[in-house]
Amino acid sequence: MKKLYIETLGCQMNKSDSERIAGILSDFGYVETTVEKEADLLIINTCSIRQLSADKAYSKLGVWGKWKKTRPELKIGICGCVAQQDKEKVRQRAPYVDLVFGTHNIYELPSLIKRIEEDEKVCSITTKPIVCNQNDFKIIRKDSVNAWIPIIEGCNNFCTYCVVPFTRGRERSRAPEEIIQEAKNIIKDGFKEITLLGQNVDSYGKDTNSPDITLANLLRELNKLDGEFRIRFVTSYPSDITDDLIDAVDECDKVCKYFHIPMQSGNSRILSEMNRRYTKEEYYTIVSKIRNRFANVAITSDFIAGFPGETEEEFIDTLKAIDELELDYSNTAAYSPRVFTKAGKMTDKFLSEEVKYERLERLNEKNREASLKSNEKFVGRILNVLVESKTIKDGKVVLNSRADNNKIVHFEDSSKNVGDFVNIKITKAQTWCLFGNPVD
Ligand code: SF4
Repeated sequence: MKKLYIETLGCQMNKSDSERIAGILSDFGYVETTVEKEADLLIINTCSIRQLSADKAYSKLGVWGKWKKTRPELKIGICGCVAQQDKEKVRQRAPYVDLVFGTHNIYELPSLIKRIEEDEKVCSITTKPIVCNQNDFKIIRKDSVNAWIPIIEGCNNFCTYCVVPFTRGRERSRAPEEIIQEAKNIIKDGFKEITLLGQNVDSYGKDTNSPDITLANLLRELNKLDGEFRIRFVTSYPSDITDDLIDAVDECDKVCKYFHIPMQSGNSRILSEMNRRYTKEEYYTIVSKIRNRFANVAITSDFIAGFPGETEEEFIDTLKAIDELELDYSNTAAYSPRVFTKAGKMTDKFLSEEVKYERLERLNEKNREASLKSNEKFVGRILNVLVESKTIKDGKVVLNSRADNNKIVHFEDSSKNVGDFVNIKITKAQTWCLFGNPVD
């Protein structure tokens, strides 16, 4: 038995990839461990969305490289967006690395692993994915309640700050039959939540040129499957949220009433500089359509503070948007220049680190306020939640759950278990979570 340790940085797509890597390697006798030092094969699955994540990957390789000096039989691998972006450069910076594979090469692992076991140094990075049925490969899922299904990979949008189209390539949708089969397997295995993943999930099907292959229709098909489970989808691109998609979410009782729709900036000039294909007003229209349709819906977003050339007034538009749209929560980040991107070349417009981080701090403060305000709205309402874990606090069993609208809800009830759906009357709100009691 050989031990495998995978460190995963970045988004849910990377986490899902790591589950697939662990599954494939299990067929070659690798069992996952959480203890780095006891592993025979160490893999870092990297993210390059911000410089900090990329630096973290190289620093981890540096530590593992030192271990290899005393344990030459130790194998080290790197995959994900940094590997895809830096290609052979990874080997220049860390020549002791045994395996470098790109975001398109995961399903090539069966042959790659054999080669590194024969002491070959391997680098496999292609710009096109290996064509295969992903259901032919084992997946070792980390969570016992939620299971991810990547339905579309890559992105065609080329937002000027984003490296994803360069690291994940152009959009490629999986065949609906393959996704439905994976969903059936997941339900059979007892999972209670399916999250459909895509960098731009509502672009699903566009690359197939078949008008019937859409996210809306996929949700309708998945909703027909038997079993007690619910469905989510992330991440949405604002102008790709069609009326048909909103109808499908409404029609399908298993689909969560939750939308994650990155706005990135509340100012139309900055949105245009970012090459986002919508104005502030168009974003407002989408949000109001969704809010008018669903009572307990939550809408979350992402924002960047300090995009090149952003003025103080333009930044204030972002703070105003969070208030006016009553956004429930937002992920926030200071602008980080990335290689290959258009914005990364706008060096004459870069703001100082001081300005960016001061704006980020104000953005975070606004986000805290917005989250508390949103949570307070739910006090007195009943939310259907799915229990994700149990903890003991002050001698009492506390169930940690997630509502249909993605709100975190804690409650006490020793008769409930992980994987149960429960109706909870919300009694108390805090900034990041809600508390309540079960009701019939
Ligand atoms: S939509 Fe824009 S931000 Fe999102 S992955 Fe594509 S290029 Fe990046």
